[in-house]
Amino acid sequence: MKCKRCQDKAVIQLRQHNAAFCHPCFIGYFRRQVQRAIEQQKMFTRDDRVLIAVSGGKDSLALWEVLAELGYTAVGLHIDLGIGDYSSESSEITERFAHDRGLRLITVRLDRETESIPAVAQFTNRPACSACGTSKRYYFDRTAREHGFSVLATGHNLDDEASRLLGNIMHWQVEHLAKQHPVLAPTHDQFVRKVKPLYRISEYETAVYAFLQKLDYIVDECPNSKGATQLIYKEALNRIEAGMPGSKLNFLQEFLRSGQPHFRQEAVSPPNTCEICGMPAFGVTCSYCRLKREAAEKRTRHTGTTAKDRQTDIP
Ligand code: AMP
Ligand code: ZN
Repeated sequence: MKCKRCQDKAVIQLRQHNAAFCHPCFIGYFRRQVQRAIEQQKMFTRDDRVLIAVSGGKDSLALWEVLAELGYTAVGLHIDLGIGDYSSESSEITERFAHDRGLRLITVRLDRETESIPAVAQFTNRPACSACGTSKRYYFDRTAREHGFSVLATGHNLDDEASRLLGNIMHWQVEHLAKQHPVLAPTHDQFVRKVKPLYRISEYETAVYAFLQKLDYIVDECPNSKGATQLIYKEALNRIEAGMPGSKLNFLQEFLRSGQPHFRQEAVSPPNTCEICGMPAFGVTCSYCRLKREAAEKRTRHTGTTAKDRQTDIP
């Protein structure tokens, strides 16, 4: 198997593109794919200050490395979710990555701001993934606003986006289909534009990139995601892809080109300002402050302690 560009010995075969690459040509190909997505979808330019949400996984770390290599101003934002060893390892890896490359990282520790995700889930009886999503979305916008960033990038890849699309179609989540796009315009001037520069790059390609570039990343999945329905959709798509290479990319691209415009809806802007934190809100308080308040009330009822009591215990 020979490299498509230089005819040297190939190290990776990409059946969906009917191509194979040697190590240096694959690195170049990967970076060009990211650059092309950013430009074609008008995600941001080199004049923008980009905040990149970094989990410590291979996708967001690879994206951060590529953006830095391409000359973009990309500052990392890591949210320590307080999910046991998984979160402490993710935070350590992210901090080391930033330190080794001289990149700026902002870390938000949920257990200092409110409660860890397991505690919120326990006290509010909500699924951990729902509490996690609400908290992450909130700090993505709030941190971007507080630090003056115009755009927030996440490491969502082709497998994430295609499986999410399949799930949205299986349940005909029309409102979610309306919002499924690699570039999401903010619905309020206090919110930030959200972009996904890896949306056309498969999980396999990012894994190979991370391996070849010797990136140290957290391999374990979040313990709460085990058995998540999205994994079932990912498996189904992988089986289709094995029989028909290119289907995953085609499924997503054709949706974005011909399907998505039919689902677009007028975006609704939150009409209020949260009375607690000042962020935009649909009700009197925003959904994050409601979650935080509910967790605090139930903690006091269940244990007789407040989060503050607990924080003074932290050495
Ligand atoms: P996931 O939902 O875990 O597949 O993550 C999708 C993307 O969300 C990642 O590529 C990151 O860009 C972002 N993300 C997930 N978890 C975190 C976190 N704890 N802190 C910052 N960004 C995150
Ligand atoms: Zn609020």
